[in-house]
Amino acid sequence: MSFSEEIKNEILETKNKKCCVIPLRYGELITESKDITVTELKKLITKACCKKAFLKGVFLGSGCLVNPESEYHHFEVSLKGKTHANYVAKIMEGYGLYPKITKRNQEYVVYIKDAEQIATMLRVFEANKAVFKFEDVRINKSIKNDINRTVNCETANLNKIAKASYKHIEAINKLKADGRFDTLNAKLREIAELREDDPAASLEELAAKCSYEISKSGVYHRLNKIVKIAEEE
Ligand SMILES: [Zn+2]
Repeated sequence: MSFSEEIKNEILETKNKKCCVIPLRYGELITESKDITVTELKKLITKACCKKAFLKGVFLGSGCLVNPESEYHHFEVSLKGKTHANYVAKIMEGYGLYPKITKRNQEYVVYIKDAEQIATMLRVFEANKAVFKFEDVRINKSIKNDINRTVNCETANLNKIAKASYKHIEAINKLKADGRFDTLNAKLREIAELREDDPAASLEELAAKCSYEISKSGVYHRLNKIVKIAEEE
């Protein structure tokens, strides 16, 4: 069953007040014909409960909602007449929604793309199970995005280390090939050797392995110095 069908079932399960029966039915009808005019609708639909019932009817007639698991959010209902579409949109605006209208084939489509607003729409339908499901999927999705973001950041940092490390090792190789490596002072040589032994090590790890007391930034400066010396000449 699609999410749209689940919502429709939930709407059908809820009992309607007597005054709401016709508004709901008319909502459904205007998705199929232009016979009932907006003037008639306005006369009939005045109470808050009836407005909700009317929107439920419209959704039963032509509503569609993309599954919450999908990459994007989309809610729509389609009407036969332009004035009908404007009227439906106007009632939706009463709930703080900002629907847009577009023409597709011979129909006027009233739609929402904002997830927050779609959740509000579902609340107007009093489709509590659907609201819960929609929000639940959204929350899980945003947690997943947070995890992905962290992983991406970690990968970026690893790449940064790898790039810097490559530069260091290139410099060390050059100094060795030039026969200049042994002319480096003992402290620089030690850092260079530690770097060669462990290209993936972070500056902190290199500092910890060093035989003498040195800070992370000390290691950083020494490695940069080695690169600089290698570039000279
Ligand atoms: Zn009513």
